[in-house]
Amino acid sequence: MSRVIVQKYGGTSVASPARIWRVSRRIAESVRSGHPVVAVVSAMGHTTDRLIDLARRVSPAPSARELDMLTANGETITAPLVAMCLQAMGVPAISLTGLQAGVRTSGHHSKARIREIETQRIRAELDAGRVCVVAGFQGVTESMEITTLGRGGSDTTAVALAAALGAPSCEIYTDVDGIYSADPRVVARARKIAHISYEEMLELAAVGAKVLHPRAVELGELYGVEIHVRSSFKKGVGTMIVAQVPMEDRNRVRGVAHESNVAKITVRGVPDRPGVAAALFEPLGAASISVDVIVQNVGLTGATDITFTVDEGELAQAVALVQEANRQIGAVEVLSSGGLAKLSIVGTGMLGTPGIAARMFRTLAENRINIEMISTSEIRITCLVDRARAADGVRALHTAFELDVK
Ligand code: ADP
Ligand code: ASP
Ligand code: MG
Repeated sequence: MSRVIVQKYGGTSVASPARIWRVSRRIAESVRSGHPVVAVVSAMGHTTDRLIDLARRVSPAPSARELDMLTANGETITAPLVAMCLQAMGVPAISLTGLQAGVRTSGHHSKARIREIETQRIRAELDAGRVCVVAGFQGVTESMEITTLGRGGSDTTAVALAAALGAPSCEIYTDVDGIYSADPRVVARARKIAHISYEEMLELAAVGAKVLHPRAVELGELYGVEIHVRSSFKKGVGTMIVAQVPMEDRNRVRGVAHESNVAKITVRGVPDRPGVAAALFEPLGAASISVDVIVQNVGLTGATDITFTVDEGELAQAVALVQEANRQIGAVEVLSSGGLAKLSIVGTGMLGTPGIAARMFRTLAENRINIEMISTSEIRITCLVDRARAADGVRALHTAFELDVK
């Protein structure tokens, strides 16, 4: 089979019948290149949000399994609409659900991981000259349970399919024309990036740059699939996510990201002995709750305080689990609060460049933004701040690190 083209179209790009026509015309153009085409599609517009909202109207705490059964339908609607549209244009096409496309996942509802893709069906359809329009975001476990991959997960479906079909690249069509140095909706002077490394993009995506699902970037790196993020509305090249970026792009902070739904939990007066942190965090891991920035004070009196962050949507569940674990641990109290945001700067240029952290802290101080917690990786610095000041902070950092377009 000649080289397969794998494309993904996001929610805004398929939000209406007119947009589905536009996307289908673009798919038809790719078909004319003579290569087999797989198009992964997201739910139309805000469909996924609306489905989640519907669930909450009938139940205060819907089970993760039923939520997946519900939200997977967003993509299941788009795929046949796009296939019908292609057929109406005279382009042979077939829609496939995650199950039919062979997307096999782990059983973690709402955050399942793709384990493998059985490509026989897709290959047979492509061999028969049909475009495969695959519902993104969804998969199925060994026991035929429907799962979803987490918000934004259609990107991951697309990159995983590209890897499984041996495609050298994957095109992500979205409502911006590439990756910018910050969310262009927040920073008017954000600049478009021509090339970015998997490493930098993964850090940005993991700390809030929602333009790509972090797992998609991870799979791209693992299987050597280049990811091309581009606009479904205008022509032109977008951003290439690759292993090696040109030299001049390496020596600076590449981007600023922010994440708004952050909450923190503080466990006060934790007895200072081995095994306590493990006992606190194991139940959270077992419940698939990601714990983020973790700070533990040095204990002076045989007791310490541990503070960590979680997604605000998971705060209530996390607090309940920590309180339960605390029955064995015997810490003084468990406190929690929401309303926080994470601000992060990312760039391999930080390696071996002293003064970057100081510049970040000074910039926030000059803007009277208080830092609650700090965490770092080799190529990232993150500060926890009051959510109401997050957008101001992003703009200030973008200017301070000389990223503004002149
Ligand atoms: P899709 O529905 O196509 O998957 P998303 O809404 O998931 O689109 O992602 C695109 C959005 O990501 C953009 O509209 C933009 O507001 C946001 N975004 C956040 N950070 C960035 C960034 N650094 N570069 C580009 N877009 C970003
Ligand atoms: N429809 C899902 C969401 O809104 C997945 C996606 O769009 O990638 O998160
Ligand atoms: Mg997305």
